[in-house]
Amino acid sequence: MKCPYCGNEQDRVLDSRPLDGASVIRRRRVCQSCHKRFTTYERLENVPLMVSKSDGRLETFSREKLREGISRACEKRPIPADAVERLVSEIEYELQDYLMQVPSHVIGEKVLQKLLKLDHVAYVRFASVYRQFQDADAFLQELEKLKKAGVKPDPDFHPGRGRKSLKLKKAVKVKEEAVG
Ligand SMILES: [Zn+2]
Repeated sequence: MKCPYCGNEQDRVLDSRPLDGASVIRRRRVCQSCHKRFTTYERLENVPLMVSKSDGRLETFSREKLREGISRACEKRPIPADAVERLVSEIEYELQDYLMQVPSHVIGEKVLQKLLKLDHVAYVRFASVYRQFQDADAFLQELEKLKKAGVKPDPDFHPGRGRKSLKLKKAVKVKEEAVG
């Protein structure tokens, strides 16, 4: 396991603990080079992340579907070509905090947060689909909120860059290793 602090590949496992039954294992590790500690989560690949919808249905998480939704909101906007892909990757990475199941609204809110920093039009488009505005009033309210909040898109916003917190919580998926 590569140390998230110094990149060294030698580490020692201090503690392993199964979570969510036995399909996820949490390991505390210590780097043998810089001696910092980090945690990894291992999820069997045949145990997919499930998305729980507001009506209680469960769906398998789909990267494709997430990308489609974001791309649609970003259509014809002056957004760097790789911004959507990076945004999807960043969200997917953050979702590793959710080991077995994630409520769909968590994903929706993450997308909104990131779009807000990227492009206001894309944000409002996504919000209108995601929050299912019933009428023009609801839509205008959202615009009003944006104006009041006075949030300006950050032209230097690069999803996935300079995010220390992501590096600290390095998570991994196990491909073939059996848990037992
Ligand atoms: Zn290290």
